[in-house]
Amino acid sequence: MAEPTQIADIVSLTGLTPHTTELVLRPIERSILFKPGQWLSLQLPFGDHPPLNRAYSLAEPPSPTGHLTLVYDHVPEGKGSCYLSSLRTGDRISLSGPYGRFVLPDPDSKNLLLIGRYSGLVPLRCMILSLARQGPLPPTTLITQAPGPAEQLYHEEFIALAKSHPSFRYLPLVSDDPTNMATTIAAIRQVAVKGQNFTPMIAGIKSFTRPLRTLFMELGFDRREVRLETYD
Ligand SMILES: Cc1cc2nc3c(=O)[nH]c(=O)nc-3n(C[C@H](O)[C@H](O)[C@H](O)COP(=O)(O)OP(=O)(O)OC[C@H]3O[C@@H](n4cnc5c(N)ncnc54)[C@H](O)[C@@H]3O)c2cc1C
Repeated sequence: MAEPTQIADIVSLTGLTPHTTELVLRPIERSILFKPGQWLSLQLPFGDHPPLNRAYSLAEPPSPTGHLTLVYDHVPEGKGSCYLSSLRTGDRISLSGPYGRFVLPDPDSKNLLLIGRYSGLVPLRCMILSLARQGPLPPTTLITQAPGPAEQLYHEEFIALAKSHPSFRYLPLVSDDPTNMATTIAAIRQVAVKGQNFTPMIAGIKSFTRPLRTLFMELGFDRREVRLETYD
């Protein structure tokens, strides 16, 4: 069933990297309860047939303030992300949610292998922060692929997390071509030792997510065991 649409205030807009922005929203009608990994639908008054609906994953677990944190990358000539770039603190936006089933598996059931391309890291970060707030992280490996060294989202945060949580492994990779998967595949093959009990969760654009699902199926996973969040 569709979630009701409501208005939210823009609390802040902060550049995280040269081409990504963090957007903090405060819903003014009712708070939104969500699970890490879920997303909101923004209804943007833009385009030939407004509203333009665009999905954005929540980047931080629920907070007592009720603020909602999203992160978007500036897609060249992308209609939605260009509109978001025109917004300022104090502006208002329509949204609904939460939506989505890309959420953590049952507690303690498996180790996690999380793989995100660029802003695909956003839902994975929300899951990791949520787990870290509950105590020591379960065995978790995070493989990221950024389009450039300056575009590595939350890089310092994950380095610090790996230092404070011995069970958390962070493998940051850089490639300007999402279809250039060689280093990502090599990293996965190293980590995904046969017979190990882990859940692969992959997020990003389909030219990144789909070949990786195929890889996991070659490694013996059932298609449904490989959890995907595909952005386009
Ligand atoms: C469940 C879900 C969660 C999402 N979460 C996020 C998020 O947390 N952060 C975020 O930045 N985006 C997220 N997206 C993508 C987002 O909804 C928009 O599609 C994206 O911002 C591009 O919209 P646009 O109107 O600017 O580009 P459009 O004008 O729609 O152009 C899209 C074109 O850009 C390409 N493209 C390049 N990079 C991206 C990208 N990152 N996402 C989508 N298409 C891309 C597509 O392949 C396509 O050809 C999510 C999408 C889904 C379905």
